[in-house]
Amino acid sequence: MRGVSFLGGRKLEVAEFPDPSPGPHDVVVEIKASGMCGSDLKFYRAAGGETAALGLGRLAGPVIAGHEPCGVVAAVGSNVDERAAQIGSRVMVHHYSGCGSCPHCRSGWSQMCVAGSTVYGVTAHGAHADYMKVPAHTLVPLPDELSFMTGAAVSCGTGTAYGALRRMNLSGADTVAIIGQGPVGLSATQLAVAMGARVIALDVSAERLARAKAFGADATLDPKADDAVATIKALTHGVGADLALDTSGAAEGRLTAVRSTRPWGTVCFVGEGGEVSLDVSRDLLRKQLTIIGSWTFSKNGQTDCARFVADRKIAVDHLFTHRWQLPEAKEAYRLFDQQNAGKGVFVMA
Ligand SMILES: [Zn+2]
Ligand SMILES: [Zn+2]
Repeated sequence: MRGVSFLGGRKLEVAEFPDPSPGPHDVVVEIKASGMCGSDLKFYRAAGGETAALGLGRLAGPVIAGHEPCGVVAAVGSNVDERAAQIGSRVMVHHYSGCGSCPHCRSGWSQMCVAGSTVYGVTAHGAHADYMKVPAHTLVPLPDELSFMTGAAVSCGTGTAYGALRRMNLSGADTVAIIGQGPVGLSATQLAVAMGARVIALDVSAERLARAKAFGADATLDPKADDAVATIKALTHGVGADLALDTSGAAEGRLTAVRSTRPWGTVCFVGEGGEVSLDVSRDLLRKQLTIIGSWTFSKNGQTDCARFVADRKIAVDHLFTHRWQLPEAKEAYRLFDQQNAGKGVFVMA
């Protein structure tokens, strides 16, 4: 089968790998759609060896990238219960696997496993491939109403946005500032609008802001052109946003989130990496602010997100501006690396 591997320094290759066959507790998923997530850029750009440096790498040789898997069960291991997986079932993959017995694993948060977690597409073969072998317990059913592309988005970017909004207890009474309108931020805009909230969307790309507007953002602003904190306060009668979500991972974005939120408000950081400095008394204590960190979602959270998207008929497929075939991977990531387009997805023909 074909698979896409990052070689470091913005290089990748599409290579041949052996077709996987399932171990006793595994399934093989025939991949139908494999999304491109912002965090893939971290590994695409890395000088090389970063995944091994996580201390979790189990594979010798190149790892197949892609951690937004969606497809159909093609083979089932001998010890897999038929209630867990059947050939032909439409499935997503919760893209982590842990020990299975620690409190985090048992609550569906296997990425937090005390024994360390396998991350598919990072430390084990992922979904930018024709087939993917995973333990049966990682499967999350794809509702019939959802396309494979939507399932791919829910498997990381959209699921992460949903998880963050739920962690913040977003309601229809809230105005939420969403900093960064990449795949996660734009998903958050789409979901927050569906939850009834008023969205103020921030990005430095006019193209991304236009997309946020089309997805129902009430106001959009470019923090390079306007004073973001002052503009958000002006849009909220001088008070500030009830909630702010930073998807940018940039220090300025995080500061904007903190400073544009009203007293007693809640800020959530979901963008990976980097750091931020706060004036603790002014920015945090005097405002009685709550700051939450949110890391992706549990297996049940992924199920909930898919159900919400299906029941509310949310057009998640509209997130995708580029559909690619595996042999086009170099061009796909070259374009994604510029960070002004929408989301890309590999669809297997
Ligand atoms: Zn565990
Ligand atoms: Zn991701």
